[in-house]
Amino acid sequence: KVRWAIVGASQIARSWVARAIQSVPDAELVAVVSRSAARGRAFADDLGIPVSATSLKSLLAETAIDAVYVSTNNDRHRDDTLEAAAAGLHVLCEKPLGLTLYDAVEMARTCDRAGVVLATNHHMRGAATHRAIRDLVLTGQIGRPLAARVMYCEYLPKELQTWRTKDKAQGGVIYDLTVHNVDVLRFVLADEPVEVMSMKASSLIGENGVEDQVQSIVNFASGLIAYMHEGQVFAHHETALEIHGTEGSVYGRGILDEAPSGRVYVRRGTEMTEIPVEPANLYATTIAQFDAAVLHGDRPAATGWDGVASLATALAVRRSAQEGVRVSVPRFE
Ligand code: NDP
Repeated sequence: KVRWAIVGASQIARSWVARAIQSVPDAELVAVVSRSAARGRAFADDLGIPVSATSLKSLLAETAIDAVYVSTNNDRHRDDTLEAAAAGLHVLCEKPLGLTLYDAVEMARTCDRAGVVLATNHHMRGAATHRAIRDLVLTGQIGRPLAARVMYCEYLPKELQTWRTKDKAQGGVIYDLTVHNVDVLRFVLADEPVEVMSMKASSLIGENGVEDQVQSIVNFASGLIAYMHEGQVFAHHETALEIHGTEGSVYGRGILDEAPSGRVYVRRGTEMTEIPVEPANLYATTIAQFDAAVLHGDRPAATGWDGVASLATALAVRRSAQEGVRVSVPRFE
């Protein structure tokens, strides 16, 4: 079994990831680390986690752990990951992997050198809907993909309108959702973004110039052109992912979420056929795949380098929107 500690008593850990770890047969959720002893204790009590500690160091002095789930604020991902890797722990890190490319590459390289697994929690790769779309595309069922559209537009709940909407250094929709959309496109298309053109706005909830929506056109290596829209201000918008090919189009409707949700259709001519999809918990699928990487050397759903790639494109989006120019996306291996 993989013995897990959660680093950061966060909302996403509380609502999804803790229970996902507890549900996976190869995983055991042993501990939570929180800077606040009281918050950590309450988190552990509420979720039935045996140990709570105020630092990774004090935890490791008493408790054996194999892997950490880094679920802290964006500006703590780098340090928390490097500390875990130095202790020989495998890391599933929340997105964005880091705030800068320099940090993200350092995280991926350090974990490679330490011989520990680094994965990025691009949980959408765990969605049965996204896996079905990827299968349709990669098995040629819509012919050659020519264009894609992805719209991750939602309303950010009031209780999450904290650092995300106020803190320019680590908040904003680009760190929050653009990284996900980029990863979704890379995953379902098995293609790489090469250039972006973007515009952003602080439309409703973003403060201090923090963007709450952004729209981009992205060129991919294959020649495909994609449209991406991420927003935290849309109470009525259905999320969507479309891939349009020479032999058909795939429509994923309502499929960008934390919960298993939405439907997948293939359209040929005017005929629309629903593709049956068996719903599965996205986070449990991600954890199970991570455990297989630790225990059997398999590939995690999204590696550290996938997190570097999604961040590289997201930062190109930010620069394009800020400067009003087309921006090339750097690639790292
Ligand atoms: P939260 O704001 O809930 O928690 C972030 C950190 O703040 C926690 O690690 C905790 O650290 C501290 N904290 C928690 N509650 C409080 C509080 N009441 N007062 C002060 N500090 C508090 O973060 P989210 O859950 O919204 O996001 C965490 C990370 O997960 C982010 O990187 C985000 O991008 C990512 N995320 C990923 C999702 C996915 O599906 N992949 C979905 C949502 C978020 P400590 O306990 O050490 O004090």
